[in-house]
Amino acid sequence: MGENLNLFTSTQHVIQDALTKLGYSEEMFELLKEPIRMLTVRIPIRMDDGKIKVFTGYRAQHNDSVGPTKGGVRFHPEVDEEEVKALSMWMSLKCGIVDLPYGGGKGGIICDPRTMSMGELERLSRGYVRAISQIVGPTKDIPAPDVYTNSQIMAWMMDEYSRLRENDSPGFITGKPLVLGGSQGREKATAQGVTICIEEAAKRKGIQIEGARVVVQGFGNAGSYLAKFMHDAGAKVIAISDAHGALHDPDGLDIDYLLDRRDSFGTVTTLFENTLSNQELLELDCDILVPAAVSNQITAANAHNIKATIVVEAANGPTTVEATKILSERGILLVPDVLASAGGVTVSYFEWVQNNQGYYWTEEEVNDKLRAKLVEAFANVYDTSVNRQVNMRLAAYMVGARKMSEASRFRGWV
Ligand code: NAD
Repeated sequence: MGENLNLFTSTQHVIQDALTKLGYSEEMFELLKEPIRMLTVRIPIRMDDGKIKVFTGYRAQHNDSVGPTKGGVRFHPEVDEEEVKALSMWMSLKCGIVDLPYGGGKGGIICDPRTMSMGELERLSRGYVRAISQIVGPTKDIPAPDVYTNSQIMAWMMDEYSRLRENDSPGFITGKPLVLGGSQGREKATAQGVTICIEEAAKRKGIQIEGARVVVQGFGNAGSYLAKFMHDAGAKVIAISDAHGALHDPDGLDIDYLLDRRDSFGTVTTLFENTLSNQELLELDCDILVPAAVSNQITAANAHNIKATIVVEAANGPTTVEATKILSERGILLVPDVLASAGGVTVSYFEWVQNNQGYYWTEEEVNDKLRAKLVEAFANVYDTSVNRQVNMRLAAYMVGARKMSEASRFRGWV
């Protein structure tokens, strides 16, 4: 609870810093410091043992001046109001950075999906949609998967919404299975986005991807696809890690072999005897370091020992505020999470566009469009950082806050 309250207040500070740098008045901060709409719902579900359990759920909509709001639904025991609000504000920033016609939204249900049957999960997913149906929809607020929710849950939610509205509504939600209007390229979208950011950062630093030494922390959805993309592009992935340790080979690891041996939890290091710790991995001599696992990995304690030229944050919040400052002073180019991990929401947007037009793109078309969006977003953030002499993180927040502030101003809200 306390931690999520911190997340919420720190998010408010981020928005305030960006608005101040952009020269907006205090009134703009008053508008953007909280979501415009926050719904709390209670969802009664019949469990498999015949008893009724009442779950609490939330949907936050931060700012809809640019267009409908958009953001994932999280199923987790520690979800609370502050976390959902803060994450909806982060989504507004992300959508602004990649220039999507959306504001930020977020949802969550307090539950532990790991202890629930498929039937219970289906009833809960449908119950949530019935409870929030008045404020969501393809032109109002479009949910998506997040922590512990997946394409099956999106399919149940889409089906429930379509039944309520009595028309097929694939554009109500993204992250759906392909047969129900999902997009090609969605599964690999986050790693594709990180790869594009690495290429753009490397160009700015005069590093060739071919032969570059890359270290990746985390070997799950984001980290493993990323390692594969880098390996295929001719880079030398010299170290990877998971929750149990790290593998290191200065001549480059055999990523295809490791992918083949990895289990469904993203674990592979337990198969080997000689492993490094995750801390040692971060401090390896390399060109590109990609934290793709958990938050708070690069801190004031180790930021002075990072040897990479470029750090690209595939995970959410892997670098603390103090460490960001240290890396920036040391001339290390840090590509922040709100930019580097925006590939997922960008392809979610493409999924919604395809649903609306009823015509579907090939994976190649999706990837080309993703590249165009992220190359432009990277250039905007990088140029803002150079021109305004701020680090890439603050520059990203500035780019992210600018569009919704301008849209709110033109609408006459502020
Ligand atoms: P995942 O659950 O698929 O994989 C996580 C990986 O990290 C696993 O290999 C696990 O063993 C490893 N890990 C866990 N704890 C660790 C630790 N303390 N040290 C080192 N490794 C550890 O998760 P994911 O989907 O790949 O997400 C990773 C990060 O990327 C998260 O911060 C997530 O929020 C962020 N992210 C993911 C997506 C996405 O589409 N998957 C989108 C945006 C952001």
